[in-house]
Amino acid sequence: MQATRTPQDDHAPTSAQVLIVGAGPAGLSMACALADAGISSCVLEASSLAALQDPAEDGREIALTHKGIKVLQGLGQWQDLPAAEIAPLRRAHVFDGDGLGDPLAFDAQGSGREVLGQLVSNHWLRRVAYQGALKRAALISIRADSRVAGIELGAQAASVSLASGERLTAQLLIAADSRFSNIRRQAGIGVEMRDFGRSVIVCRIQHSQPNQGIALECFHYGHTLAILPLNGDCSSLVLTLPADRATAMMAWDDAQFTQWVETELRGRLGEIASLGARHLYPLVATYAHRFAAQRLALIGDAAVGMHPVTAHGYNFGLYGVELLAGLLGAAKKAGQDLGESATLERYASAHRRNTWAIYQGTNAVVKLFTDERQAARLLRRGVLQMAQHLPPLKAAISAQLTGRRPGLLGQFQSLMRG
Ligand SMILES: Cc1cc2nc3c(=O)[nH]c(=O)nc-3n(C[C@H](O)[C@H](O)[C@H](O)COP(=O)(O)OP(=O)(O)OC[C@H]3O[C@@H](n4cnc5c(N)ncnc54)[C@H](O)[C@@H]3O)c2cc1C
Repeated sequence: MQATRTPQDDHAPTSAQVLIVGAGPAGLSMACALADAGISSCVLEASSLAALQDPAEDGREIALTHKGIKVLQGLGQWQDLPAAEIAPLRRAHVFDGDGLGDPLAFDAQGSGREVLGQLVSNHWLRRVAYQGALKRAALISIRADSRVAGIELGAQAASVSLASGERLTAQLLIAADSRFSNIRRQAGIGVEMRDFGRSVIVCRIQHSQPNQGIALECFHYGHTLAILPLNGDCSSLVLTLPADRATAMMAWDDAQFTQWVETELRGRLGEIASLGARHLYPLVATYAHRFAAQRLALIGDAAVGMHPVTAHGYNFGLYGVELLAGLLGAAKKAGQDLGESATLERYASAHRRNTWAIYQGTNAVVKLFTDERQAARLLRRGVLQMAQHLPPLKAAISAQLTGRRPGLLGQFQSLMRG
């Protein structure tokens, strides 16, 4: 495949200090954060320039925590989002079993914030990340149609070879090439992979009654249905179910699908109409055994690929970007080599501390809420009732959602300590 040079290459440095594989939102945000620290990078992306300039709608509505939003604000990307593309997440109602009785309700009350978080479409996050990179063209070059085929991590430098045969070298290589990262594999880094045997269908729906900014998370038996509130009597539907059933439902026509959704919601949100295409994603969570190797750092989904139920995937990506850019910026100021292992190890251990408990906690929640055995059904009901009647536990979950306190694990620990 021929490497296509983009317009910003005209202003690009001839040799970048850092090579980034993957121009997804994490890779592009990393390039922006590095540029803000005065570090030049070259982002290598397998897909076309057109796909970067005008990212296709992919059905994902990304729930951003306050901490994730702060990182985006720092990069100037938040300010580039049209206000109409940001939807407030005011409350979350969690239902268990086949009914839609009294929910366990979360809101931001007591957190000093008005909302739990904000929802933004993934294609918009990709768009503003690309625009952010364009604005920093003096320090960022983006090469589309450039699939990285091989890597070499040496003591003095890191190199990549492109499918075209071209070879590029820098002080540091950053892999942001998705949860199925080939760079991670080539670096000999294994991954904990959890295939849930389920798929998720996402699409937009329109409804005759307002959503009031409330997310509905319905842990029904056999499937999970989440409705995420968007602007203008519109919501995102996120349906998780066994892979074979998901494939069958993808073939349904709009009338059959919306009728099914209306029945599931038992009149909540009124009449439902479909808005555009349905998208299907297999549910596989991944956690790299290491986030760093000689002259290599993993970020975004290449480091931690989350199950979407707790909405942490890209948020973790942004926390990793902020952390790594901060450490590399400090290394640059101190005149150090950017590929120094002590810096990369510091990033790896801090990012692990920030993500490990929530990764495991999310998988445990998924396991419990998809286990159809009677004992598990009783346990999950018990867990929700306990949360409902134990305000500190509920407050801990809300605090985690709003990013007010450090982490759910810490919250639980302080709760246990009384
Ligand atoms: C249904 C769904 C809902 C989600 N909801 C949320 C949510 O509410 N909140 C949240 O925080 N997160 C959510 N996520 C997660 C979020 O979408 C991801 O964490 C995020 O998009 C990952 O970005 P990334 O840049 O790491 O990877 P990607 O977006 O996967 O980008 C990787 C890039 O690398 C490129 N690439 C791969 N291999 C190569 C190669 N060899 N050479 C060159 N380029 C290469 C690819 O073409 C791609 O552009 C959700 C995910 C799904 C599926």
